[in-house]
Amino acid sequence: MQFFLIVIGTFVVMEFVAWAMHKYVMHGFLWVLHEDHHVRDEKPFEKNDIFFLIFAIPSWLLMMLGSMYESPVSRAIGWGILVYGVAYTFIHEIVIHQRIKWFTRTDNVYLRAIRKAHKVHHKKLGKEDGECFGMLIVPWKFFSEALKYKRKQKTARG
Ligand SMILES: [Zn+2]
Ligand SMILES: [Zn+2]
Repeated sequence: MQFFLIVIGTFVVMEFVAWAMHKYVMHGFLWVLHEDHHVRDEKPFEKNDIFFLIFAIPSWLLMMLGSMYESPVSRAIGWGILVYGVAYTFIHEIVIHQRIKWFTRTDNVYLRAIRKAHKVHHKKLGKEDGECFGMLIVPWKFFSEALKYKRKQKTARG
């Protein structure tokens, strides 16, 4: 049970870690790797994809060292990072950027809100003055917009 709670806790913390990484590192000294994600062209792979590895390494290390030194806490944190990484990749690559066409149209309020927030992030093509660096937690205004959209859809359908 405790193991599970640490996994969940790590997952939540990771959203803030990812937010800070995106704002201060990817839009900071590692902008060279993130830049091509802000440029609109349909390349199959981007330099930005390397960040997947950058996040995967600490997760794998924590799990491996956790097994070697019999530390369930370390393994649980490793799992939390992994689960977050999978969720982030799923949301960012499939739901938002639609590298695989699964959720091209959705009424889901949560999915619409985070998709819109990330699109706002992409509107700025440069390194400076970005907004909406979070992925799974986004400002309330995007939820209220998505809710309004859903209500309109409902009335239109009768
Ligand atoms: Zn960015
Ligand atoms: Zn993106």
